[in-house]
Amino acid sequence: RLYNEVQDLKGNIRVFCRVRPAGATGDASAGCTEIGEDGELALYNPRSGMRKQFKYDRVFGAGSSQEEVYEDTKALIRSVLDGYNVCIFAYGQTGSGKTHTMAGSDVEDYAGRGINYRALDDLFAINEERQGEAEYVVRVQLLEIYNEQLRDLLDSSRSGRRLEIRNTERSGLNVPEATQVDVSSREEVVRVMEIGARNRAVAETKMNERSSRSHSVLTVIVDGISHITGQRTHGCLHLIDLAGSERVGRSEATGDRLEEAKHINRSLSALGDVMAALAQRNTKHVPFRNSKLTQLLQDSLCGQAKAMMFIHIAPEESSHGESISTLGFGARVS
Ligand code: ADP
Ligand code: MG
Repeated sequence: RLYNEVQDLKGNIRVFCRVRPAGATGDASAGCTEIGEDGELALYNPRSGMRKQFKYDRVFGAGSSQEEVYEDTKALIRSVLDGYNVCIFAYGQTGSGKTHTMAGSDVEDYAGRGINYRALDDLFAINEERQGEAEYVVRVQLLEIYNEQLRDLLDSSRSGRRLEIRNTERSGLNVPEATQVDVSSREEVVRVMEIGARNRAVAETKMNERSSRSHSVLTVIVDGISHITGQRTHGCLHLIDLAGSERVGRSEATGDRLEEAKHINRSLSALGDVMAALAQRNTKHVPFRNSKLTQLLQDSLCGQAKAMMFIHIAPEESSHGESISTLGFGARVS
């Protein structure tokens, strides 16, 4: 099977919108969203009376639990074990709830756990279910893309060296120097993620609030063999907490901050361009080469791939402009 073959993802990209509860970040201004039926969402501005209507695969409101938000992801986990590549993205401005959706806010409390934990839980549960029929080896890799540079968050030597993307035959393995850790239970995964979070925090003290300005890509690589047919499978699940999508104006930022903002803007629009191209039928050219993020995910967005995008909205009036831009991004890629 050729991994670099471009195939349209039409029907295989789903876009979900999640509106976080108002006031979660201390901004108490009025809520400006209205959730309708069948994935409809209206954004209105109480001052100007402007009202815009959008439609996605599903919209989750403030009252939606982590479990409900995860519901549609479940089926994709089974596909990873069957050899599909799956990408799940969290998009939105800083403070809109991306990390809440992916990692969750309180890992100790099961109800608070995000997609990352739930997906891995299910992965091991299906593995268990298929015991005797098939055998799977699961590995995880955790990378961060900051200013178009790749860093290994599981590198125990913490050398902080830059990683390169190379074209390889096997999807998900195009960063050959990245640390991959074998995991066989959820507890092990939780431990690995804690190491990643610690390594990320180390960088963060040097570069204040870096997590909102870098993309974090958790990759779960699953190699399987069926004891019945002897068939081998190879699937990757990428769980991506994107950098904050807020526009940073020249007036607000200078120097390093402006440089970061330019890198983020460029890579998020490159992602939008790639997804929009893949969502069309008979795609001729997909501009993967325009950012590190799209280069990293190239193999996993081609061929037998499925993608899910969770766009996040902060409901406060002060976020109105960013919300319009986020909702537009979601509409373009679906
Ligand atoms: P981001 O990663 O997009 O910057 P966070 O996930 O850190 O945003 O969310 C910002 C704050 O809002 C956090 O304190 C988080 O716990 C809270 N929050 C976000 N989404 C929800 C939600 N759906 N329900 C409750 N609290 C939320
Ligand atoms: Mg975050």
